Amino acid sequence: MEEYKKKKILCVGLVCLDIINVVEKYPEEDTDSRCLSQRWQRGGNASNSCTVLSLLGAPCAFMGSLSSGYVADNINTGSRTILHMNRNLPDVNAEDFSKVDLHQFKWIHWEGRNAAQQVQMIQQVELFNRPLPPQERIMLSVEIEKTREPLYQLFPHGDLVFVSKDVARHFGFQSAGAALKGLYSRVKQGAVLVCAWAEEGADALGPDGVVLHSGAFPPETLVDTLGAGDTFNSAVIYTLSNGGSLQDALTFGCRVAGRKCGFHGYDGIAEMSAL
Ligand code: ADP
Repeated sequence: MEEYKKKKILCVGLVCLDIINVVEKYPEEDTDSRCLSQRWQRGGNASNSCTVLSLLGAPCAFMGSLSSGYVADNINTGSRTILHMNRNLPDVNAEDFSKVDLHQFKWIHWEGRNAAQQVQMIQQVELFNRPLPPQERIMLSVEIEKTREPLYQLFPHGDLVFVSKDVARHFGFQSAGAALKGLYSRVKQGAVLVCAWAEEGADALGPDGVVLHSGAFPPETLVDTLGAGDTFNSAVIYTLSNGGSLQDALTFGCRVAGRKCGFHGYDGIAEMSAL
């Protein structure tokens, strides 16, 4: 058991450079406006999730494509910002993933992207898990955030599935609870489905059929919600991977994500692992 605890949480997905321009109001086309501030920050869901996991004190690892050298250039003339970005970075595929030594991990999380390849990666982990006793198996989680049809094939592949408000709405659901009940038939037997709903908090549904809820923990001043979802996911995974209950995981997820919304970036999360 001690050995298992020391194992890492692997997040598979994107790392990128977020260039955040803070403006007074959303700019209208063909107008000239000055940013209140600008900040460059490492982003990408899987990378953000690793940032939060490490701030919470969980051993973790990132797997994704990194570009070398020149990534982005930004010229802020006061009237507009020009961005050049590298569009052709390939996603991690099943062949890349087959080179990973799975023994190091207790949990693997996929940010839904190249779903067909990701299903093959998950199947590799299932093969690895098969001969192991349940308590030694690698737990699998997936995030379905974007409203893209191919991503929906990921629903039956996670022990834990995060579905976003956007996707829930796309399916016609107007609340997290309704989305969980409506989408639960898509997940595999025994799996947990989680849906976060911004300032309304988050809900979860497991095999016992009971919808759990946590309200949000809004900060005194709302500063920055970018990455709130990734923060929430990490705090849920952190709690469950340490043996916490689903209700504890939801509540901690909302607590850490709410706190993150009160800071730029991820400052202020580090002291939360003790809560
Ligand atoms: P994102 O804006 O990143 O898509 P989500 O809607 O997925 O965020 O929310 C994730 C969690 O972050 C929510 O369950 C909630 O706990 C927290 N959260 C997001 N926005 C707010 C907010 N405005 N106030 C308080 N908590 C928030």
